[in-house]
Amino acid sequence: MSLPYFEYLAPQGLAEALELKALWGQRAAWLSGGSDLLVRAKQGLVSPEAVISLKNLSPKLSGLREEADHLRLGAQTTLHQALNHPLIARELPGLAEALSAIGAPTLQQRVATVGGNLCAQTRCLHYNQSALWRAGLAPCFKLGGELCHPGGATADRCRSTCQSDGAVMLTALGASVVLQSSAGQRALALSDFFTGQGERPQDLAPDELLTHIILERPEPGLGTTYIKMASRGAMDFPLLSAGAALRVEGGLVTSARLALGAVFAAPLVLKTAMDPLLGLPPTPENLAQAAAQAGRDAAPFMIENHSAPAAWRAQMVPVAVERALAKAAQRALGGV
Ligand SMILES: Cc1cc2nc3c(=O)[nH]c(=O)nc-3n(C[C@H](O)[C@H](O)[C@H](O)COP(=O)(O)OP(=O)(O)OC[C@H]3O[C@@H](n4cnc5c(N)ncnc54)[C@H](O)[C@@H]3O)c2cc1C
Repeated sequence: MSLPYFEYLAPQGLAEALELKALWGQRAAWLSGGSDLLVRAKQGLVSPEAVISLKNLSPKLSGLREEADHLRLGAQTTLHQALNHPLIARELPGLAEALSAIGAPTLQQRVATVGGNLCAQTRCLHYNQSALWRAGLAPCFKLGGELCHPGGATADRCRSTCQSDGAVMLTALGASVVLQSSAGQRALALSDFFTGQGERPQDLAPDELLTHIILERPEPGLGTTYIKMASRGAMDFPLLSAGAALRVEGGLVTSARLALGAVFAAPLVLKTAMDPLLGLPPTPENLAQAAAQAGRDAAPFMIENHSAPAAWRAQMVPVAVERALAKAAQRALGGV
């Protein structure tokens, strides 16, 4: 598979990049590491007339800055830089686990960025295929058609899912993003940034650039973890994943956030399953009850849209969630 022709634009600074994007609109795509975009271009899933490289913006849009009450992570930070940052490695091990689960070390070091991971497209067994493979099927909602192959005859929307490991963990951490255009700037919680619509998974206007990710400063008593289930240990997208962030103070859970990946078009936030944990000690019994509820809440989302059977993935939800909660609780209580 070869890349289609497109113009390559390499603006020198942010203002020039935003002007170019305002001019080209949807005809141009931002290019950070290219590990999502260029694969899709080769598969004929996207055909931009131009790509606008963010390479020259990296010095200004990379790295983690500690502000008074929050952390500011540049969108162009490579996965390797982010997961090896001392503060992330020490205080947000769940985020380091999620980023280190993406692709393989070469991809994490050389190309892939945190911003690119948040803006990557949702995926599905029928969509992420070569043009030749797809030629035997009518176009689905995500390709401008009017059906969803795994969703079946009654599906009225795209049922592709968010398989971005970083997106799932950052959602569990309650992160938000800063979006910049020539016209101004806006901040959005990730729970709003991800639309839940497979056809257009992010609330990102054609002239907007994701410049930063804003994270709450980790508080004492916070425990985080990321569990990924995939066919292979490396170079593989999740068939199911769970990001957990638990805060335990005085032996009781004071905050419990959990997001699932590869289930819904956005990271699936399981608030009803987590809220009953508040005010309780994180005992194995309490965590198992929350995990069982998570399984019930996630069950309606399971369809045959990935290479593992929906029934297996449904069975694995409580397993993954219980493991994630147990590890997060252990870390919240001072373990590793
Ligand atoms: C072999 C292989 C294995 C992989 N395995 C995994 C995996 O296990 N888990 C996983 O999560 N991902 C995986 N990926 C996907 C990909 O590597 C990651 O999502 C990566 O973080 C994408 O970052 P990037 O910088 O390369 O993004 P790009 O490909 O450059 O961009 C991705 C999308 O976001 C847009 N974009 C990029 N930056 C911005 C920005 N700042 N503002 C607005 N839009 C922007 C682009 O236009 C494009 O549409 C894999 C990819 C490959 C090739």
